[in-house]
Amino acid sequence: EHEGEGGEEYLFKIVLIGDSAVGKSNLLSRFARNEFDSNSKATIGVEFQTQVVDIDGKEIKAQIWDTAGQERFRAVTSAYYRGAVGVLIVYDITRRTSFDSVKRWLDELTTHCDTTVARMLVGNKYDLENIREVSAEEGKSLAEEEGLFFMETSALDCTNVQTAFEVVIREIYNNLS
Ligand code: GDP
Ligand code: MG
Repeated sequence: EHEGEGGEEYLFKIVLIGDSAVGKSNLLSRFARNEFDSNSKATIGVEFQTQVVDIDGKEIKAQIWDTAGQERFRAVTSAYYRGAVGVLIVYDITRRTSFDSVKRWLDELTTHCDTTVARMLVGNKYDLENIREVSAEEGKSLAEEEGLFFMETSALDCTNVQTAFEVVIREIYNNLS
């Protein structure tokens, strides 16, 4: 186990946002517990899950917050965003409307967080590529416009899930120094 000279503890709050049913809860359960739920309903009771990640020999606790379904009512509160240093903005590549909502989510993020928050745009459900409505190029160019990292993921078959979270965690870590 490697610790910094002062035995620093790193705890990063990361929030998941995006329209209902894009796969936020499943991305988190895939990342934190390697589980997938094909009939997941709104998360009840669990506010966040903590996952320990090793970055350059430093032990980092990523505290990842999931909504309890309140995004359906556009009622994600400021408490949810408070103290966040990273965010994954998720859309569903098979549902154009969820991609159109990304701008609104970015506006909300700007209202609640400062500009230094590490931001990743995630196009989820890559396993359903055959019925996609949003091309990878569109995702990539929106990300470039807005200065976000970008990745397509599948919580179902694990594609890029670990990587998406780790890129954000590494960016937060790099921004510390
Ligand atoms: P949330 O409302 O954003 O938290 O979305 P959920 O995680 O509850 O997922 C909504 C639905 O999409 C559920 O039926 C999931 O099983 C399904 N789902 C989530 N991620 C994926 C994925 O990567 N691929 C596929 N095919 N389905 C997914
Ligand atoms: Mg959910």
